[in-house]
Amino acid sequence: MKCSVIMHTTSDKKNGRSIMSLKMVKKFSHFSNKVTPRVCIVGSGPAGFYACQQLLKLCADVHVDILERLPVPYGLVRFGVAPDHPKVKNVINTFHKIAKNSRVNFMGNINVGEDITVEELKNNYHAVLLAYGSDQDKVLGIPGETLNNVISGRQFVGWYNGVPFDKDLKVNLDTEEALVVGQGNVALDIARILLTPIDELKKTDITSYALEQLSQSRIRKVWLVGRRGPLQAAFTTAELREISKMQNCTTMWRSEDFQAIEEHLLNLPRPKKRMIELMLNNLSHTTFAKENSTKMKILAPIFFRSPKEIIGTNFVQRVILTKNNVTGDNFLTARAVPTCFEEEISCGLVIKSIGYKSVQIDKDIPFDQCVGRIINSYGKVKDNLYAAGWAATGPTGVILSTMTNAFQIGNLINQELDLSHPKVGTKRLIEIFKEKNVAIVRFEDWEKIDKVECERGKILGKPREKIVDIAEMLKIALS
Ligand code: FAD
Ligand code: NAP
Repeated sequence: MKCSVIMHTTSDKKNGRSIMSLKMVKKFSHFSNKVTPRVCIVGSGPAGFYACQQLLKLCADVHVDILERLPVPYGLVRFGVAPDHPKVKNVINTFHKIAKNSRVNFMGNINVGEDITVEELKNNYHAVLLAYGSDQDKVLGIPGETLNNVISGRQFVGWYNGVPFDKDLKVNLDTEEALVVGQGNVALDIARILLTPIDELKKTDITSYALEQLSQSRIRKVWLVGRRGPLQAAFTTAELREISKMQNCTTMWRSEDFQAIEEHLLNLPRPKKRMIELMLNNLSHTTFAKENSTKMKILAPIFFRSPKEIIGTNFVQRVILTKNNVTGDNFLTARAVPTCFEEEISCGLVIKSIGYKSVQIDKDIPFDQCVGRIINSYGKVKDNLYAAGWAATGPTGVILSTMTNAFQIGNLINQELDLSHPKVGTKRLIEIFKEKNVAIVRFEDWEKIDKVECERGKILGKPREKIVDIAEMLKIALS
């Protein structure tokens, strides 16, 4: 038996054209109409919630359990999206509605791979979807990477956003210059947080301890180092424009990085063209007056440079960069090739923002250790096992693209549901967790945490004060 979608072609008389409409029709075979379709989703980030939404839409009597490692839901929407981008977090309203659906059961504080195996899940559900994201980082593999104050971008983001595992990260901001390796949107988020006036951050849900340390920060200049050129920069125009417009900060481009770029302008796709024009426009406005003003902070993007070595005795003191040439016919896939030219940058903080990486949470998950993602073909891993979101695609893409991916995998799961045998689902999981003494945090329990966070935030004039300690979360949730 399957819950299936039938495409109906209807005529839109007003416009005299044919339109396709999706109508959900449930087909029952004669023997299995009592079987409730049971799907388990691992991870409560955008991929998990959007796949769940699609399943609810396509399959009228499906029951979905969402298992989440932490006592709190929403993945990187809570723990990644920058605190000064509150509108992006509005997707939480949609996720909240999904979680409140009577066919959905959220179970937080469940670490799949540790508290329960994927095999156990496969045995108890008609389909299991792995949507557990990417929560490790790539490494540079260069000397000096383990010096004090050389930290991963993922952990720095986790520190200011209240990831329980990163709350004790040692960050020393008692230095004038920081160097961020990588030029993606995460690198821009990090640079912006380091450069934003503290009064603006006070109004956000940034953690209080990060706010306290940022208020003492002496950082005046942030270098943003990319191994390839402006044409290959990974950040996007809106995010670049935002940082370029900051009142207290000037962006100092290096004119040598833009030599011969204008000849490419005509042939660039529109979004790329707009971004390069923004850089060129900024470049022409960069003035020494701005740089020398003591009030002004500086964002200093550098292209065609890779870190070769990080130097320091105990703390980082400077970084040696190798100059690269960029070669290849296609400007997007062109590669950075090192030259023998080197450059040194003094800095007291290095943040490596070179991308996230997923991990194999269970031995039964086929996993590509090099790329850091689950081996899958368009979301299919193996019989009744699927993957979606960053765990499946690798750590690129925004909430919207994750949503599109999750919808597709939701469709696939629905098409392939084999309901020839009933599955126990939730009931069996509850027994297993009881046997192992693992406390389940239900969605209503999370709402208690949410309420306390919002109340504490109100006192401080911010949307919420995140609780960063798992024991405290559990105490509130299970009280
Ligand atoms: P995640 O959001 O990471 O969700 C995975 C979930 O699985 C997490 O809740 C995790 O706790 C859980 N999990 C992990 N392991 C287990 C386990 N063993 N058992 C059970 N659960 C587990 N996109 C935008 O559109 N706008 C932005 O402004 C934006 N800002 C971003 C900022 C940062 C710093 C980062 C890193 C990304 C940002 N993105 C942004 C991208 C966006 O966050 C991702 O596209 C999206 O979150 C990926 O969704 P996901 O569900 O695959 O992974
Ligand atoms: P990313 O966009 O892939 O950027 C990674 C950066 O690290 C690139 O500049 C990359 O350079 C560089 N890099 C990788 N390996 C390197 C190495 N060994 N040495 C030097 N540099 C290296 O990843 P991200 O910034 O982590 O962002 C992840 C996703 O989240 C992206 O899709 C992003 O758009 C999204 N996001 C969106 C927002 C937003 O919408 N506001 C905010 C944050 C994140 P190369 O290009 O040369 O590989």
